[in-house]
Amino acid sequence: MKITGFRARLYEFEMERRLGDANLPEGTSMATGMLVFIDTDERISGVAIGGGPVGTIHRLVNDLLVGEDPRGVKGLWQKMNDAAFKGGNRGEIGTAISTIDVALWDLKARLNDEPLWKTLGASTNRVRAYASGLDLALDNSELTSFYTRMAQQGIQGGKLKVGVDLESDEHRLGLMRDALATSGKRPELMIDSNEYWSPKQAIRHITHLEKTFDITWAEEPARRWDVRGLRQVSQSINAAVATGENLDLLPEFTPLLVNGAADIINLGQGSGGITGMLQIADLAYAFDRPVTLMNCPGNFMAPVAACLPNHIGMEVVDAGRDVCFTVDNDIKDGWIVLGDSPGNGIEVDEQKLAVVEVEQYSPGTKVGSWGRRAGAGMYEVPSD
Ligand SMILES: [Mg+2]
Repeated sequence: MKITGFRARLYEFEMERRLGDANLPEGTSMATGMLVFIDTDERISGVAIGGGPVGTIHRLVNDLLVGEDPRGVKGLWQKMNDAAFKGGNRGEIGTAISTIDVALWDLKARLNDEPLWKTLGASTNRVRAYASGLDLALDNSELTSFYTRMAQQGIQGGKLKVGVDLESDEHRLGLMRDALATSGKRPELMIDSNEYWSPKQAIRHITHLEKTFDITWAEEPARRWDVRGLRQVSQSINAAVATGENLDLLPEFTPLLVNGAADIINLGQGSGGITGMLQIADLAYAFDRPVTLMNCPGNFMAPVAACLPNHIGMEVVDAGRDVCFTVDNDIKDGWIVLGDSPGNGIEVDEQKLAVVEVEQYSPGTKVGSWGRRAGAGMYEVPSD
């Protein structure tokens, strides 16, 4: 069995609602996606929903992977990272490597004719979920209806986007708590300021909120690499500091853990794909720290969470981003329940894909890449 090549298929679409955070409070409903297929000479392919420049994926696959046995996933991950090391294996090339890795793991599981969660060694098909509205652009009634809808699926945890307006954050945290309480369970409250604050802004803001609310974790309260600042925040608030979803490589996590700057590690697909996420989760496990999995379309990365002994909850956004595929999982009583379909459970719907497929993304459509807002780390509400 040999890898023969790849196909990348780009699509863009309008989501069911706007997504936004402190760096884009008005939000956007336009989004993009990319399906990457790794093909073999035995007419079976692996698929990932990912990113990275198509040209970079082309170079990595054609230069390094064509002719290789796809089942040696970890070895191929190392080969790609070793090839990229001189120019740096972070950023867009890191994203490309991550996407290929995710598709290779899917391929391996499909070849095994088993679900990915079994290939990864999970002994359960259940993953605890928490709701995440990416909700700064939602008005109060939209916020309440989102978290109420999630609570109806048994989800008791919610993560609110905060950072721009303390009074509004305080009010909306109460709305989220009350909506989650309709699950009949004790609400778990998280906040996420997406690196919008300086450490001292974070401490002032969070300690004020903690006078009223019991907050489980505060996510990215300071810059991702600010070890001293994140530690300062962690030592000054009751909530755990969670961070890491925007880091690229295992060695970037080590100083956060060694120095007590991260109490919870956020694992994202961009941190080396599944192979990289497994390494980082093991590192956190060595420090007795829990991990959480970042959101993704259709929760298709949930099989990774299922195999991690220190995983405490996966972010569920539920914004209608699975526009051209289905994923074999369901949310039941607050848990993502993974099906038995081979691989990661993605099944592409060609008819739906034909409606949204594009040659290139339109300007301004790439969700999540809206950049850092002017004034971040300095003042919460920029003056015009
Ligand atoms: Mg986040």
